[in-house]
Amino acid sequence: MRTSWVEAALILGGAVVGWYATHRWRVSGEPPPRGPSSDYLDGLNYLVNQQPDRAVEAFLRAVAVDQDTVETQFALGALFRRRGEVDRAIRVHQNLIARDTLAPAFREQATYALAQDYLRAGLFDRAEKLLLELSAGGTYRIAALKDLSSIYELERDWEQAIAIHRNLARIGRPEQPTAIAHYHCELAELARTAGDFALAREHLRTVRAEHKRFARGALLRADVALDMHEPDLAVRLLRRVPVQSPQLAGEVLPRLVRALRAAGRETELASILQELAGDGRDVADAIAHAAILSGQLDSPALLALARGYVGREPAVAETVQALLQDNVPDDAALTRLCAALRRQAMRAARFRCGDCGFSAATFFWQCPGCKSWDTLKPLTPSDLAGRPPAGQER
Ligand SMILES: [Zn+2]
Repeated sequence: MRTSWVEAALILGGAVVGWYATHRWRVSGEPPPRGPSSDYLDGLNYLVNQQPDRAVEAFLRAVAVDQDTVETQFALGALFRRRGEVDRAIRVHQNLIARDTLAPAFREQATYALAQDYLRAGLFDRAEKLLLELSAGGTYRIAALKDLSSIYELERDWEQAIAIHRNLARIGRPEQPTAIAHYHCELAELARTAGDFALAREHLRTVRAEHKRFARGALLRADVALDMHEPDLAVRLLRRVPVQSPQLAGEVLPRLVRALRAAGRETELASILQELAGDGRDVADAIAHAAILSGQLDSPALLALARGYVGREPAVAETVQALLQDNVPDDAALTRLCAALRRQAMRAARFRCGDCGFSAATFFWQCPGCKSWDTLKPLTPSDLAGRPPAGQER
């Protein structure tokens, strides 16, 4: 065990506390402290000499007679937890809570610290119990609500997660403003899987009430419409999504193809895509990228979009220019190029979180890394090559 800066801070803190205790005794004429400093110094010695269990014992003896060392107990507990020595952290915090003389503010702090130990140890039921106590009010109310929300998300207990987020919204701290809508989408997915389409639609109505234009809600409503043999409604719902959220083109395209096929309107795909692409280069490029990655280039409309895309996408355009004199690949060359791009993309992560940088081969509504909602975006060939996307080059 190396002596880390935290341990160094503990030692320095100990020296200050020791000086303060001695100084106070000398200045005030109070009776000298009854040995806490010896227990305390023993604890520090054990810590430095790599005997953490004996250090804990010594510190726990010290806290029985000297409240000045409480802060050090917290630092020690946090240090153990950070090092993954959760059993020791739990012991430190449990012993603090067991002290009858502990001030209420310290008791609250120790309860929250113990909840963090339980979370780290994966003992979610124990953590939940403490966090529910803390969420009723006090200094750790918001922190406890956020931790509870993480527990319920992890356990996929969406009803409880909704209740916690409503509570957070009431006190004005919704860190993830779309979380409640996503929870209802999760419940709608479950209802849909169970074949309860009425319940799924009920949840999706709540999603709309939460957020008028919520892309995931529209996609799910389209899924339910397809399940219920209402393909025309599905087409209507899907058409709106890429314009609002171009990054979801990969989610829209296969559903749109399916819905048009179910409605016997396959021939409309070209005109719908052209209309969507007319809404802006972002949308056109997102649809083309999605089509290339899914290998869906079997219509002239999609080939035209892909041709425009490979001409504009910096990392690809360079290759095209190097190989073709007039910079415009014919259908056969374009198809081969798109197949190569697809293979290249399949070898790497295809999505990346804009918040924490987590990358994944499949799409997630919630980032598995930082647990933020709606932060995963598809990676373009320029992203993969480490270049800024078109329009952002300097
Ligand atoms: Zn993330």
